[in-house]
Amino acid sequence: MTKNQQARVVIVGGGFGGLAAAKALRNTPARVILIDRTNHHLFQPLLYQVATSVLTPSQIATPIRSILRNQKNTTIVMGEVTGVDKDQKCVIVSDADRQNVPIAYDYLILATGASHSYFGHNEFAEYAPGLKSLADAEAARNKILQAFELAEAEEDPTRHRDLLTFVLVGAGPTGVEMAGALAILVRNTLKSDFRRIEPASARIVLVDMAPRVLGPFSESLSKAAKKRLEKLGVEVRLGHGVDLIDEEGVVIAGERIASKTVIWTAGVAPSPAGKWLNVETDRAGRVRIQKDLTVPGHPQIFVVGDTASFDQNGKSLPGVAQVAIQQGRYAGKLIHGRIVGNAAPGPFSYFDKGSMAVVGKGFAVLQTGKVQVSGLGAWLTWAAVHLQFLATSSLRLTVFLQWVWTYVTGQRGDRLIVNHHDSQLAEPAPDTLVKNTTAGR
Ligand SMILES: Cc1cc2nc3c(=O)[nH]c(=O)nc-3n(C[C@H](O)[C@H](O)[C@H](O)COP(=O)(O)OP(=O)(O)OC[C@H]3O[C@@H](n4cnc5c(N)ncnc54)[C@H](O)[C@@H]3O)c2cc1C
Repeated sequence: MTKNQQARVVIVGGGFGGLAAAKALRNTPARVILIDRTNHHLFQPLLYQVATSVLTPSQIATPIRSILRNQKNTTIVMGEVTGVDKDQKCVIVSDADRQNVPIAYDYLILATGASHSYFGHNEFAEYAPGLKSLADAEAARNKILQAFELAEAEEDPTRHRDLLTFVLVGAGPTGVEMAGALAILVRNTLKSDFRRIEPASARIVLVDMAPRVLGPFSESLSKAAKKRLEKLGVEVRLGHGVDLIDEEGVVIAGERIASKTVIWTAGVAPSPAGKWLNVETDRAGRVRIQKDLTVPGHPQIFVVGDTASFDQNGKSLPGVAQVAIQQGRYAGKLIHGRIVGNAAPGPFSYFDKGSMAVVGKGFAVLQTGKVQVSGLGAWLTWAAVHLQFLATSSLRLTVFLQWVWTYVTGQRGDRLIVNHHDSQLAEPAPDTLVKNTTAGR
């Protein structure tokens, strides 16, 4: 069979699901095309560590083409998919150079993940950025570090309080991990760096409308996490969501909390894959898929990960990395089997390896089956598991060394405020430049 006669497998998304699918197709006699809007695979579980200066962006992301460089049947395309034409069997892709280019498929895997959901309050986005991409994490880091710089420069001490109040909206794993890491940053790392302000006096408020933190965990682990957060000086406000977020801060249950740094760590919304396909979705907008992860009526279209809705034992599978990885791998293997003529595998079944969340230095909660533990042991397990799932061995090594360094010295990896537009704004207009140069001489 010539290359041109080989089946074309198009994968949209190089996150956990898409990458697992591509790897499962490495020995398949097919042309695999992986399309992503970014050039990198991102390890989202460690985004909060970039936002709080523990790790650098390059320690949690790797170029997709470098991960798949030895996979000769796979081509990487950087572009934004904007639709799927099911009749013509192609996806529609745009990039900075070309618009609406059709890319044909015989098999399609959609693994486009999720984005933020402001629960109908999109106006909050301007004041409370979320944490989904590397750019989000860098923006959050800039915002947090800048708050300390502004407070240090501010001569009126009554303004310090507002500048040094950080509000995190959403007490799920991301909010809890972020609050813990922020508390360690302000109480330990920054403690000797400023002269006019006392970083340790910063107020960190974690808000959620749920009655407890870490909703998916057991009640006792949730209590342990809350206790730990409070020990770290985090103010945990539960049972009421935010009514308003604006440039002055937030309003919770009628009380205004003045803050210049609000970060959204709450809901997620799936990608528009359901709209592209015009098929049934669940209430959240995730595509309903069958037991073999295909879309009903379209045996060649698979949807996996955060953008798919799959029920197992009467419950919808959660939007976590393990679900995306296992589904991506299954879809890849199933397509491989169809192409080489193997018997179809049994229905997809998710194997839950457990859940973990870190709360500050040396403390995590871990839940797997009936096992529920918290403390240093859980934190060491968390660290080992996360290192194992980083995309390359060089990342595993640098992140391990950084964690040891941070644990021992309290120092962090990346405390730079990098405003990508600064130089443009600061650049004088050409005629000013000529005048200044002339005057200087
Ligand atoms: C801050 C944070 C912390 C988390 N912590 C944990 C954790 O501790 N443990 C855990 O198990 N899970 C965690 N998760 C959830 C986990 O990261 C997701 O469940 C997982 O990434 C889902 O994988 P996916 O392949 O479905 O999507 P993703 O990994 O999000 O990948 C989607 C990919 O599709 C690309 N894409 C999207 N739309 C388009 C388009 N239109 N065109 C082209 N490309 C597109 C994106 O660029 C991205 O590369 C966390 C998530 C976040 C945001």
